[in-house]
Amino acid sequence: MKTLIKDCSFILTMDDDESELSQRDILIEDGIIRSVGHDHPKADHVIDGSGCVVTPGLVNTHHHLYQTLTRAVPGGQDALLFGWLQTLYPIWGRFGPEEMYVSAQVGLAELALSGCTLTSDHLYLYPNGARLDDTIAAAQEIGMRFHPTRGAMSIGESAGGLPPDALVEHEADILNDCIRVIDAHHDARDGAMVRVGVAPCSPFSVSRDLMRDAALLARDKGVMLHTHLAENDEDVAYSLEQFGCRPGQYAQDLGWTGDDVWHAHCVKLDGQEIDLFAKSRTGVAHCPCSNCRLGSGIAPVRAMRDAGVPVGLGVDGSASNDVGNLVSEARHAMLLQRVANGADAMSAREALYIATRGGAEVLNRPDCGQIAVGKRADIAMWDVTGIESAGSWDPAALVLAGPTRVKHLLVEGRQIVDAGHVTTIDLPTVIARQNALARQLAG
Ligand SMILES: [Zn+2]
Repeated sequence: MKTLIKDCSFILTMDDDESELSQRDILIEDGIIRSVGHDHPKADHVIDGSGCVVTPGLVNTHHHLYQTLTRAVPGGQDALLFGWLQTLYPIWGRFGPEEMYVSAQVGLAELALSGCTLTSDHLYLYPNGARLDDTIAAAQEIGMRFHPTRGAMSIGESAGGLPPDALVEHEADILNDCIRVIDAHHDARDGAMVRVGVAPCSPFSVSRDLMRDAALLARDKGVMLHTHLAENDEDVAYSLEQFGCRPGQYAQDLGWTGDDVWHAHCVKLDGQEIDLFAKSRTGVAHCPCSNCRLGSGIAPVRAMRDAGVPVGLGVDGSASNDVGNLVSEARHAMLLQRVANGADAMSAREALYIATRGGAEVLNRPDCGQIAVGKRADIAMWDVTGIESAGSWDPAALVLAGPTRVKHLLVEGRQIVDAGHVTTIDLPTVIARQNALARQLAG
C-alpha cells in the first residue's frame, strides 16, 4: 500500500544536512519513505499535510512504563531518589501481568500522542508472574516500535541493597530469562519493530558479577546494554564507598562502555567520564523532567554533545516525572541547558534533533529518526494552526511555541494517531481499567 502525506507546510528532516523543506509531499510504501518531493504521486491513502510541521517521530530512550500506575503517589512526591524508591517498592511488589500490560498501554499511548514512534522501556521487577512479554504485547497492539530491556535487581535489603528481598531475583534466573526473551522477541533486521536489551537496574541493586555477566551475554547475543548511572550525588557517593571508584570507572571496568551501551541520567559525569563516553561512543539517555522532579541536578548535556557523546531524551518512569510527554521533555532539555549555560546554549532545533535523530543514534537505529528516502516511515505531524502557534514567526521552532500533542502519527507507515486520537486501542476503556487498578493498589 502507498501512503502520501500531501502538501506538508514544513518538514524538519533531521537528515545529514539537517534540511528544512516547505510545501512537499512524502510518499511511503512498505513502511519506508520512497520520495520527498512536490509532484503529488498517486497513492492508496492520502493524508493532508497542510498546516502541519512534520518531523521524524520522536525517540524515547528511557522509560519504566509500569510506573504510569504510580503517578503522584503522596509519600513519593517530595522525596530524593533513594527515599522515593523505598516508598514505591512495596506498591510495585503488588503488581502482576495485568498491571504490567495495562500500564504499558497507557504509557505507550501517552508517548504516541506526544509524537513518539520508537521507545525503549526498562522493566526491572517481575512480581507475581509478570514478564517482559506483557509489555511487548501492549506495544504490538498499539503499533509502536519498541526496544524493551530485560532489567533486574538481585541485591535485596538483607544483603545491604535498597529493594525489599521480595522484589529481587536470583542472578542465574535473571540471565536465563534474558536469553529466553532475546530468543523469543529480538529482531536485528532493518526496520525491526522489537529489539530486546539487557538492563540490570543500577549498580546499587545488582552485584558486580551480574553487571559483568550481563555485558558478556549481551555481546554474545548482539543486543544492547542499558542501566542507570551517576543519577545524583547519593549515587556517586555510593559508588565511591562501595566500589572505590566513580561510576564511569565502574562501568568501564565491567564492560559497560561502547556503542552498544547507553546509560540513563548521567547527571553527575565529570570531564574525564564525558571523554570516556565520547571516545567509546557510549550513549546517554537524558531525562530532564525526572532530574528536576527528584532534584538530581542538571546533566552536562552541552559538554557531552560538544565532546561527541551520543545523547537522546527520555521521559523516565511516570513515578518520577509524572508526565510521559516527549516533546515537552525536549523543551525542558533546552531550558535546563540555558539555565546552566546561558540563552545560546541550546536552540529549539538542537533540542528537536536530540529528541529524534539523537535518540535513534543512541539506540543504534540508523534506519529511523530522519525523514529521508530509504528510512523507515516514522513520522510526527504537528498542527501549527492552533492557539499554541498563533502569532509564531517560526512555527518550526516547535519547542518554543507549538502544540505538545501530535495531530497525526505514523509508525512504519501505519497511522496510529489520527486527528489527535489513538486509532489502534480503545483508549477510554484502557484509562478506566488503569484507574481501577490504581484504586486496587491503593487499597
Ligand atoms: Zn529510570
